[in-house]
Amino acid sequence: MDAHKSLVDRLLRLGIIRSERVRRAAERVRRELFVPDDYRDMAYADTPLPIGEGQTISAPHMVFMMDELLDLEVGHLVLEVGAGSGYHAATVAEIVAPSDLPPHTWGTVVSVEINPHLATLAHHNLEAAGYSCRVHVLNMDGSAGVSLRVKVDRILVTAAAPDVPEPLFEMLKEGGRMVIPVGSPGMWGQDLLLVEKVDGRMVRRTITGVAFVPLRGRYGWSGGVRGG
Ligand code: SAH
Repeated sequence: MDAHKSLVDRLLRLGIIRSERVRRAAERVRRELFVPDDYRDMAYADTPLPIGEGQTISAPHMVFMMDELLDLEVGHLVLEVGAGSGYHAATVAEIVAPSDLPPHTWGTVVSVEINPHLATLAHHNLEAAGYSCRVHVLNMDGSAGVSLRVKVDRILVTAAAPDVPEPLFEMLKEGGRMVIPVGSPGMWGQDLLLVEKVDGRMVRRTITGVAFVPLRGRYGWSGGVRGG
């Protein structure tokens, strides 16, 4: 059995992948297109890998756990903070804008990356993998959100924040969801939170302990605003 298929089968058996739409995305998106050449033979190991600039591509189980928590639907507008090399954004795009449905049904992923080299890398990888119409990469600090004029259905943050940035929560539609790691910048003592907007209020649920690279920027660890 090939490595890609056996990884997906394992994550299904472990109950990490639970829905048909996440299973389909896991099968469709080729992680080897998003890892550096030197790590290609490890593309389907369930582990984070270096992508340069001191950053990592998340482990597949974390990507699909977050995708399940987001409860993504075809047509959703999704904001990702932390594009990295673009893999997670591609899996989200494959759910909100599936290749086998007509483009008029498609949603969109806006993926923000603070590091210019990684923003370029993500853009090239997503283009090579066929996602450039469905994922738009922006090179900027996404910790305070982006001005899109419309609210978004879902927000995915892939770096650990001091707390849930209020401007990001503001960007969510009523009934919208955000998945975000919150805690220390040192990769210990972080929790993955599921945040929902219910009657305009923030409802948070702690899902599990996690280890993410730190969120930078205004509402991150290097910025002027500390969560409270
Ligand atoms: N989503 C990626 C994970 C990348 S690691 C994946 O597919 O596996 C997290 C990324 O967040 C890093 O590339 C880092 O540069 C970026 N990042 C950190 N702070 C940020 C900020 N304030 N705005 C946008 N990107 C940020």
